[in-house]
Amino acid sequence: MKALLLTDAGSLEVTSAQCKELQVDEVLIDVAACGVCGTDLHLFHGEEGAGKSTLPLIMGHEFSGTVLKTGSEVKDFKPGDRVTVDPNLMCGECHQCRRGKVQFCDHAEAYGVSMDGGFSEQCVVRQKVVYHIPNTLSLEHAALVEPVACCLHGIDRANIKPGDTVAIIGAGSIGLIMLQLAKYSGAARIIVIEPVPEKRKVARELGASHLIDPLSQDVKKAISDAEIVSVDTVIECVGNPATMEQAVDIASRGATVLLFGLTPPNSLMSIKPLEEVFRKELIITSSFINPLVTQRSIDLLASGKINLDTVITDRVPLDDAIKVFTDDGYRKRGKILIIP
Ligand SMILES: [Zn+2]
Ligand SMILES: [Zn+2]
Repeated sequence: MKALLLTDAGSLEVTSAQCKELQVDEVLIDVAACGVCGTDLHLFHGEEGAGKSTLPLIMGHEFSGTVLKTGSEVKDFKPGDRVTVDPNLMCGECHQCRRGKVQFCDHAEAYGVSMDGGFSEQCVVRQKVVYHIPNTLSLEHAALVEPVACCLHGIDRANIKPGDTVAIIGAGSIGLIMLQLAKYSGAARIIVIEPVPEKRKVARELGASHLIDPLSQDVKKAISDAEIVSVDTVIECVGNPATMEQAVDIASRGATVLLFGLTPPNSLMSIKPLEEVFRKELIITSSFINPLVTQRSIDLLASGKINLDTVITDRVPLDDAIKVFTDDGYRKRGKILIIP
């Protein structure tokens, strides 16, 4: 099978690779689409993402496809089934798993991060991470089940109540998904802070009520000029210490700040505990991967409530996949799907 192989930091090749041998409880998937995530870019640059990796590796953890073959003990799937994958494989037996904190599993593995994933024509995964998708959900949209699930876990922790004002920093694919989830959580006003004009335009179409260009506008002044008294939740979707500090700065008293973007390791941010946390009684939180929300993500996407057509900006054949990692122009795009 053809695959995009990460052989070393900064070094990718499209090559023919041997597919892992199918075990009794595994499913062979013919990959239809696999999304490129910030984690893949971190791995490409030799940085640790949400988990540890060993090279060579076929990255890609946001994928969907059709079942080609099943192991002898697989009961719930058969060839031809349309499926998506929760890339995280938890043991179910460790202390954390037994407390229901599966995202902190001591023995966690992840397809596309610690095991071969979906930047490939085919992929073998354990049946317990495979999910059926309904006919109303296209295979392309089903590739976004994982990032939407990560956003759902974040939104669950963002304390948004109907009528609240939410600010979202960064309108990349994650920011645009968060924007829509904030809308369905009942946010009355959604402020989007984003320097790229095309992304602000899409944010407007998807329901942002206020748009701020941080390069030409003073963000705090723009918020007060709009007569917004309270920013109740701020969601940082960039992964940059400067925008994380900005998130804390623009959060109103009693607000929740969700630091969702992934920074490079060892990044530091500064916070004034007295002025910015204590006096504001601020809740600063984060969310780690997508524990137990995959089925909710599938149901939400199948309902058609989340617009993904403006979130997905590019479909790149596997043969051309290297340029997505090396050409900086792709940084400014939305969600990019690799099509094997
Ligand atoms: Zn991802
Ligand atoms: Zn565990």
